Amino acid sequence: MCSVGLRIPGTVAAMADMKLSFWGAAGEVTGSCYLLETGRARVLIDFGLHQGGPSAEVRNRRFPPLDAARLDAVILTHAHLDHSGRLPLLIGEGFRGRIFCTAATAELACLTLEDSGHIQESEAERFRRGRQRCGRELCIVSPLYTLRDVEAVRPLMSPVAFESPREVAEGVTVRFVEAGHILGSASLEVTVEGKNNGGVRRVLAFSGDLGPRGVPLLRDPRPLTEADHVVLESTYGDRDHRSLDDTVEEMAQILESVQRAGGKALVPAFAIGRTQQLIYHLGELRRAGRLDHMPVYVDSPMAVETTELYRRHRELFDPPALRIIENGDSPLNFPGLTFTRTAEESKRLNYLGGGVGGSGSGAVIIAASGMCTGGRILHHFKHGLWRKGVHVIIVGFQSRGSLGRRLVEGARRVRVLGEWIAVNAKIHTLGGLSAHAGRTELLEWGGNFRGVRPRMILTHGEDAPRAALRDGLRQRTGIDAAMPQFGETMPL
Ligand SMILES: [Zn+2]
Repeated sequence: MCSVGLRIPGTVAAMADMKLSFWGAAGEVTGSCYLLETGRARVLIDFGLHQGGPSAEVRNRRFPPLDAARLDAVILTHAHLDHSGRLPLLIGEGFRGRIFCTAATAELACLTLEDSGHIQESEAERFRRGRQRCGRELCIVSPLYTLRDVEAVRPLMSPVAFESPREVAEGVTVRFVEAGHILGSASLEVTVEGKNNGGVRRVLAFSGDLGPRGVPLLRDPRPLTEADHVVLESTYGDRDHRSLDDTVEEMAQILESVQRAGGKALVPAFAIGRTQQLIYHLGELRRAGRLDHMPVYVDSPMAVETTELYRRHRELFDPPALRIIENGDSPLNFPGLTFTRTAEESKRLNYLGGGVGGSGSGAVIIAASGMCTGGRILHHFKHGLWRKGVHVIIVGFQSRGSLGRRLVEGARRVRVLGEWIAVNAKIHTLGGLSAHAGRTELLEWGGNFRGVRPRMILTHGEDAPRAALRDGLRQRTGIDAAMPQFGETMPL
């Protein structure tokens, strides 16, 4: 039985206590952070980094106007940094509650936050040295957070099984369901009961980041069907992706031409999720007898550890991946695949075949970060973007202001690691490998709610895609979705 939408007279005051505020991913795709207040409890849903664009750094340092010490709990949808990357800041601000998420998300988030802590520390140090070198006044630049801050997050992680409702704060219960986006990713069904048990009960559905159906390795997203308020992501609210089969075929043909020419393909990819998908597809191509001489390097220590973590969580795999295992193969390995860990191994890749390709068979280098905003891909760009014979294959979303976005938009010269680099490499953009649902799938997910029509709230999308999704939802369901701005609060 579900009491969705049941509004009992005399509960208006209690309802006024229930509200949802948007402190990120409102009119943009990064910085996810929603605050749920019920009069009895205060729960944060995700606390991610703002990424891309010159203002991201400043915005990450601006703590939202919430009292972390009074937060009862955090619910984390998945481990990507734009959802988890500011969690270490909470502890310094006095948060002592628990962070609820799926088991795979807890492991992945610890990995990714550790990596982020390293990056924050080393970037602060690089900035400091840069000032020193150009003779400017020395100033103390503190990292956004340190590895010590990250270490404090680990003990707060409280894994919850998929599909098992768990009370995370007084009167707030969450059920995690598969979102099919990365390993462990979840949509949330959050049931809240208002102050004094005044009969007010609200169900909120948070899509989290939704994967498309048919993503390799992962199970398809599971719909939620009952809610009073639905918070739906809109990253690709204005378009559908090309079919996955066509996209993989296009990638195969690009790589075959790189192999023939002995060139080098640079593939910026999130260490979490996208890299494992690429390994899966390249493995399938190898198992089909294609690209059989072309070495593939995954140049990211994080991707190595993440891939091992994926292998340990095969209970979350989809049937095709399990069939590969039954046949005695690994969906996450193939001959010719090399993982590089150390900086020295990484540097050697710059000089493969005299700096361009492999020894007549080309080479593929997959490296983070996915939006080219940091990580080893920048070193490969510095050594490769200006060369003909190098191909850059963009396989994921590039947010406004990111280096990846500038490449996709055809920039002739870009700034990489403090240097202007000419872009002579060929840039390919493959739309169909997204880890995000396309427009049609978002409309279907948003149209699954039965009974009383829910209030739809669109987040996690730039304004044009989310407006397009709002128009589509209006046509499909007759519901006018809200598009909250940063800092906006909605009564529930
Ligand atoms: Zn994500």
